[in-house]
Amino acid sequence: MAVTVETNGVPGPPTGINVIVVGAGFGGLTAAIECHRQGHHVEIYESFPELKILGDIISFGSNAGRIFYRWSDGKVAAKMRAVSIDLSNYGFKIHKYDTGEVVADQKTPQMDPTAPVFNGHRGELHEIVFEYARDELGIPIHLGKRVVQYFEGEGKAGIELESGEKIIADLVVGSDGVRSKARTLVLGYEDKPKSSGYAVWRAWFPNTDMKADPRTAQFCENGDTFNGWIGPDVHFLFSTIKNGSDCCWVLTHRDEHDIEESWSFPGKLEEVYKVLEGWDPMCKAIVEKTPSLVDWKLVYRDPLPTWVSKEGRICLLGDSAHPFLPTSAQGATQALEDGVTLAICLKNAGKQNIPAAVRTYQEIRYDRVKAVQKTGETTRDMWHKTDWDKAKKDPKAIELPREDWIMGHDAQKHAEAVFGETVKKFL
Ligand SMILES: Cc1cc2nc3c(=O)[nH]c(=O)nc-3n(C[C@H](O)[C@H](O)[C@H](O)COP(=O)(O)OP(=O)(O)OC[C@H]3O[C@@H](n4cnc5c(N)ncnc54)[C@H](O)[C@@H]3O)c2cc1C
Repeated sequence: MAVTVETNGVPGPPTGINVIVVGAGFGGLTAAIECHRQGHHVEIYESFPELKILGDIISFGSNAGRIFYRWSDGKVAAKMRAVSIDLSNYGFKIHKYDTGEVVADQKTPQMDPTAPVFNGHRGELHEIVFEYARDELGIPIHLGKRVVQYFEGEGKAGIELESGEKIIADLVVGSDGVRSKARTLVLGYEDKPKSSGYAVWRAWFPNTDMKADPRTAQFCENGDTFNGWIGPDVHFLFSTIKNGSDCCWVLTHRDEHDIEESWSFPGKLEEVYKVLEGWDPMCKAIVEKTPSLVDWKLVYRDPLPTWVSKEGRICLLGDSAHPFLPTSAQGATQALEDGVTLAICLKNAGKQNIPAAVRTYQEIRYDRVKAVQKTGETTRDMWHKTDWDKAKKDPKAIELPREDWIMGHDAQKHAEAVFGETVKKFL
């Protein structure tokens, strides 16, 4: 069986496999970087015309850190750590929503330098990964290229761009996000999202007004902080990042509105204040400092029946295959694990066996992804239905779960270990 490259910089021996990746989010970039590491030729097609610092907070667990750490011998991970929250002193303080008392003071586990965790601005972290792929590895990233059509047949697959241009490869990876077009081709129908019954208001802003208010200055003066207030059907998470200079909050609440999934709907502060009535006044003191906020409806999708097209030449990866609720804190990380797994399956199966490689990728990933997705609901429900008498006696019961089967996973080693047995089903 082929041996996987351990460190990066130099790609593995060329496999002759040509891959088109659609979408330059974390999923697409990682798939491309990992394909490059494994010796495949890869090019990315992305609809946005230029890279912009978009979004707000995003989380990567140590199962992502293990992947990033292998890129450029830890240099990419080091850059990402420099803009990520550092909670080694502060930990995570969980407050009862109305009295504000701290019921659980969760310590931050010591970080494994070879599997670091990252919580930071999505746009800043994305820029580091994007530049690594484009500038250091030289992966062609074609911007301003919207894919309007996917096709496959005769041992090839391809995409058609808005301009009418067609590009052909051995495999097309549809990492085109929650509103994926590739998904429609793979499934043969449009998979509509369902409302999850919840929405999140989210905001990211500089600390100037926070520091000017004696009630809130404490969060910005001694390094980074992370606090959560949890109450019936609502939770409010607030963090300060980059030595307390940036502030970020997210508030998850009931919302039945039927609306398309997007990151960019503007939210209204008055609506946030209404939800916070009767809550610890500190929450409003923080929210008042917010210049603008996003109202993000949390949609839900049942697990897709398949991530792989009929002929096994087009596959889904990341959010296009499996959107996550933010309470799992694993959406982006699972997209990364997908990319690592796919690249290894392709390398080990070889150019003659692309459909078997792609089906093996799905087989290795499917059940794990489904199980991790579920944790988004269990954590949310645990917080929203807290029994406070019990929580005061056993604060650990409301701590943010950090489960070893999720965080301790090494996608690269796992794919190598199970590939041989799994691929037999598809050859
Ligand atoms: C603008 C933006 C802001 C976000 N902000 C946050 C955030 O603050 N916090 C958070 O936790 N998560 C955020 N996310 C989502 C998060 O990045 C993903 O859930 C996770 O990283 C998995 O990434 P993905 O690559 O599967 O999907 P995405 O990150 O959604 O990437 C998909 C990419 O595909 C491109 N694309 C879509 N359709 C086409 C097409 N037809 N042709 C070519 N390209 C196409 C999109 O432009 C996008 O760059 C954001 C996503 C986006 C796109």
